[in-house]
Amino acid sequence: MAKVQSKSETTKSFGLKLLKRNKFKWFGYHLTGMLYYQNPNSELAKSYRNSFYCCNSIEVDANGLAISLWCKNRWCPLCQRNKMGAMINAYYDRLQMEKEMYFVTLSRRNVGAADLKAELDRLQALWRTIAMSRRYKRAIKEGVIGIRKLECTYHGTQTLKDGSPDPWYDTFHPHFHILISSRELAKWMVEEWLRLSPDSSDRQSQDCKKVNSDGSYLEIFKYFTKLIAKDSSGKRFFDALNMNTIFEAMQHRRVYFRLGTGKSWGVAEVNEEDIEQAAVLDTDASSGVYKWEEFEKEFGYYEIESGEVLTELPKSGSLYDMVTDSEQRIGVPVNK
Ligand SMILES: [Zn+2]
Repeated sequence: MAKVQSKSETTKSFGLKLLKRNKFKWFGYHLTGMLYYQNPNSELAKSYRNSFYCCNSIEVDANGLAISLWCKNRWCPLCQRNKMGAMINAYYDRLQMEKEMYFVTLSRRNVGAADLKAELDRLQALWRTIAMSRRYKRAIKEGVIGIRKLECTYHGTQTLKDGSPDPWYDTFHPHFHILISSRELAKWMVEEWLRLSPDSSDRQSQDCKKVNSDGSYLEIFKYFTKLIAKDSSGKRFFDALNMNTIFEAMQHRRVYFRLGTGKSWGVAEVNEEDIEQAAVLDTDASSGVYKWEEFEKEFGYYEIESGEVLTELPKSGSLYDMVTDSEQRIGVPVNK
């Protein structure tokens, strides 16, 4: 028998979901604002602006269903959370059915901003060679499954922990993470990568480790780049300039790729493109249109006519401080 949710349970979980949506809406609004204002000539400028309006209003209908629209952009923390949730829902149980899983990292040298696109092309070409090989195809036919993820991080450190100059200062680090159900194939992938790309940085950067069944799988579903950087004094900030370089270079490239046949997986594939356009939540809020607004000391969703508060948060805490500090560095206008 299906579990029947009591009204109070629904309200409680809805309240928490709304709280998080509000928090990430605020974060996303400011983050895309920084991307937009620091990179006005970016080929993505228009898309950054689009994300200002992600989940900008929540419409609650007569049946208590709350609907808002996603922008579906990669830099949007609201939409990324949604996408990761969809993938975990679709794949987690199936991955847990595997006796063993391995986590492989494949990388090459770091590159400067000007070379990032070409380097990503090279990485993808190397992967294609692996995926087209008889060894790989045979393993897949025999039922091996996995997930391949393309990641890129920025290396902004100037000195290493021991105080020596960082040879990778101001470079980008594109790499693959692969979660795979065969130890043999995982080990072979690393060897093959090094054989095909002898100029790969070093053997230590290529990694293959067994994943515990305690949920370490979730590692693969994390964000594809580190959104928050640290400056030379160790202070956390959002680096909109270098993030723009990553987002531009990653355009039209798939972050996630499911490995294995549909039959081996036995569950439908989640595509980055076909995540639902609208967010729907069950609620007991009064019907109406709640618009997201930010005031001097708080932000939240407020009904446009009655002013009823759907959810609200004060402007305080470490996320708030980090974002505000980052905006001051960039000089983002207060009322955009
Ligand atoms: Zn969004």
